[in-house]
Amino acid sequence: MNKLSRNSKAKLCTCNNDIYRAVFFALQFMDVGVADGVRGRKRQQILYNQGKSKVRYPDSKHNKTPSDAVDLVVYVEGIGYIDEVSAPNSYRQYYGYLAGILRIYCYENGLNFKWGGDWDGDANFDDQTFNDLMHFEITRM
Ligand SMILES: [Zn+2]
Repeated sequence: MNKLSRNSKAKLCTCNNDIYRAVFFALQFMDVGVADGVRGRKRQQILYNQGKSKVRYPDSKHNKTPSDAVDLVVYVEGIGYIDEVSAPNSYRQYYGYLAGILRIYCYENGLNFKWGGDWDGDANFDDQTFNDLMHFEITRM
């Protein structure tokens, strides 16, 4: 079973209980780390300025406590695949796999699911105007 680092666990603990359970579910199938949970005003503004977030504080799902969003890093053989502008397209496969695992988990548990690699959830990636592959939102119906 894959394990979270202390740092990842601390960030995951800032997320809602459904995200917490979903991440541990996903860990059965692939190695992931947690890059972000709750985000304060300062950090949200920095990410907005860098173009990594499209919304200002307090409009991100990361700005709630507990957070309704989590940013995950996929690890393959110990190497973290962080989604950046320079990241090769092959990274999408790792995140797509993770998104599939989390989407089914949410479906089976009656939860809302949103992934930054397919905002409208239609499984068509060509209609995306903004990719945020590491970003997952899980909320109650
Ligand atoms: Zn995010």
